Amino acid sequence: YKLIEAKKKFGQNFLKDTSVLNKIIQSMPQSDRKLIEIGPGLGDLTQELLKVKPLVAYEVDEDLCVYLRKKFSAKIDEGKLTLVKTDVLKQFEKGSLADEPYDLVANLPYYIATTIILEALEDHNCKSMVVMIQKEVAQKFAALPKTKEFTSLAILAQSIGVAKILFDVGPESFDPQPKVVSSILKIDKQKEFVEGKFSGIFETNEQLQKFKRYLRCSFQSPRKTWLRNISSEFEKTLVQEIMQGEELPITIRPHEISVLSHHLLFKKLRLNDARKRSNATTE
Ligand code: SAM
Repeated sequence: YKLIEAKKKFGQNFLKDTSVLNKIIQSMPQSDRKLIEIGPGLGDLTQELLKVKPLVAYEVDEDLCVYLRKKFSAKIDEGKLTLVKTDVLKQFEKGSLADEPYDLVANLPYYIATTIILEALEDHNCKSMVVMIQKEVAQKFAALPKTKEFTSLAILAQSIGVAKILFDVGPESFDPQPKVVSSILKIDKQKEFVEGKFSGIFETNEQLQKFKRYLRCSFQSPRKTWLRNISSEFEKTLVQEIMQGEELPITIRPHEISVLSHHLLFKKLRLNDARKRSNATTE
């Protein structure tokens, strides 16, 4: 038995609390979908997940992969566990973590947790996620309008699915202990990407990318008014007209606008842009 030291650069904090492990298992969606874990680490969560169903796990650390291959050699031989040694972000770059619909469960490395969640939100094969992350980050994804945590992250997550914080986990449940409190965040994608298209709010991937640009612009200076932010990209009089139509006060700030209103505003701005463009071509 060789002692494996946690590597800071890979965000390794191993979960050692069986009651937390059990609660994570109970939070999983009941589905026939494939199961994927990111960062199995020393395999404590993996072991519990394997009692429920087979899974594919992505781990970047070669030392941990060597350890896991020994620990789970029987499961790997039976085809119950597929261990992939890779940087999960590289796998997302290739398109998806699986070639079929899947549920994601993970105690995420905190240094790239936000990036991984955003990738999983856009991965059309990912149908749900139950992830452990830093509490502050979880609060951003699950935030409600009019709170200061409500930004692009909440709007994106809540446009694609339903985001909920299930419970918090203190540092003492890990080894080594992180400096922060963690939360379990669950995102169920109700509005799904079907055959390369969102069946819900976004009809195409292009629309999603445009909406992300709209959000970046809307929140570029979160404390300034939405009008001021968005006027850097759209004509101010047009924006004011649209706001009037939606009965929004001109002093409203981006975090005070609901998810649905943001979509309505985005649509109207785009419609107007399209009209301008078609006028230009007919003139
Ligand atoms: N699942 C284990 C647990 O609950 O004890 C470990 C969780 S630990 C917070 C994060 C894990 O993600 C580590 O095993 C780490 O090596 C792995 N990891 C870090 N960056 C990664 C990446 N880019 N791709 C895949 N795995 C990564």
